[in-house]
Amino acid sequence: MAREKVIGPDPGGDDHRKQDAALRPKLLKEVIGQGKVAARLEIAVRASKKLKEPLGHILFDGPPGLGKTTFATVLPNELGTSIQLTSGPALSKPADMLPFLTNLEEGSILFIDEIHRMPRVVEEFIYPAMEDFRIDIVLGDGMSARTISMQLKRFTLIGATTRSGMLSGPMRDRFKMHEHLEFYSVEELATIVRVNAAKLNTPITEAAAHELAHRSRGTPRVANARLHWARSYAAAKHEGEITEAIARAALDMAEVDRDGLDKNDRKYLETLIDVFGGGPTGVEALAATLNLAADTLSDEIEPYLLREGYIIRSPRGRVATPRAFQVLGKAPPKPKPDDRSQGLFD
Ligand code: ADP
Repeated sequence: MAREKVIGPDPGGDDHRKQDAALRPKLLKEVIGQGKVAARLEIAVRASKKLKEPLGHILFDGPPGLGKTTFATVLPNELGTSIQLTSGPALSKPADMLPFLTNLEEGSILFIDEIHRMPRVVEEFIYPAMEDFRIDIVLGDGMSARTISMQLKRFTLIGATTRSGMLSGPMRDRFKMHEHLEFYSVEELATIVRVNAAKLNTPITEAAAHELAHRSRGTPRVANARLHWARSYAAAKHEGEITEAIARAALDMAEVDRDGLDKNDRKYLETLIDVFGGGPTGVEALAATLNLAADTLSDEIEPYLLREGYIIRSPRGRVATPRAFQVLGKAPPKPKPDDRSQGLFD
């Protein structure tokens, strides 16, 4: 398997990230779902091996927990090369890039998570590295400043972002492949739950895997967390096997409702409906009322609520749909002429 080198702050430092690493697929054939993305990567890997050229730079985008890091860490295993992992916020100045760039091996991978949070000066510093495997270093300053050019090993940059819109155009253009990851179907998540329960030596029934999958916000990381919780619940209160009834009771206790919405999802919808009359309202006002960062709302909470049709984004702000009122057991508001024009209450 690929050697992983982590220099500087470890993007896998948090607890949930450690759990992720234990359950993460190691090869493309172990990756479940995202069939089109996996097929394209398979071609790119084969071509790179046959042509003896490094893989072109790849940008993964999509909401958190959908497999961006998974794909990035699977690729060096497929290619038989090493990977270095870092993240945008850890790279505040060009010099922060130097240890990574000088440690590159021919054909190795450099993974930058949250690449949209990398400052513009660092972005500009790595353009020549991405294009010509070269960096320009300025030595001294003022009149005596001179630039030296340093040749690098040929490598592959893999960027991951929850906000591809925040990347500058020139940065985006330097990636050969852009892969957008979508939410997973319940069937795919049920497979992930079953495979990971086996890795954790935990017996689980088909119906229980389905129940956990159905209540996992379309997201493998969430499915893994639900599985870990149900496993603890089954071990503490029962004999260890996760049955449908145990999965249900465990998720009810964790305040994940039968529609799969968690506490934050419901708080979001309640605030939008009770405080802002269902909207439209701006994300900043919602975030301030919920006491959460606006980024958390737009990166983590809203993508799933949008995809499930609980909210829409209109030019004037977020609007709760009739489905949101329904899921909270509230009567939808009387349609306003405006709403009709948006086709919301027809
Ligand atoms: P991201 O980088 O997009 O935030 P990760 O790649 O860290 O997400 O995925 C979180 C966890 O979800 C992984 O550790 C892995 O266990 C699981 N996972 C993600 N995608 C898949 C997949 N396609 N098949 C199986 N497990 C997956």
